[in-house]
Amino acid sequence: MNKHSDCKNFVQFDVFKGFCRKNGGFVLIDTEICPAFTEKTKCRNCSHFCDVNEEGIGTCKGLESEYWAYENMDAKTCEGYEAK
Ligand code: SF4
Repeated sequence: MNKHSDCKNFVQFDVFKGFCRKNGGFVLIDTEICPAFTEKTKCRNCSHFCDVNEEGIGTCKGLESEYWAYENMDAKTCEGYEAK
């Protein structure tokens, strides 16, 4: 389930809340997301990420050599990222 902290518009303030750049104002991370939700670039959204286990660790096949990666890892600077 997506959270505000998975949204590109969200800026983390502390472990419970953050600031929404789209709607303005603070939001609690565990509350319902809004229709403007825009998912962050993460390994789990990449077509090269596969074989994820129950701990959220999978295999990245988008770079020169295969390696393990966390599904929630931020991929905005990854040169191999390709949105699903
Ligand atoms: S309120 Fe909507 S736009 Fe703002 S961070 Fe949450 S889901 Fe994203």
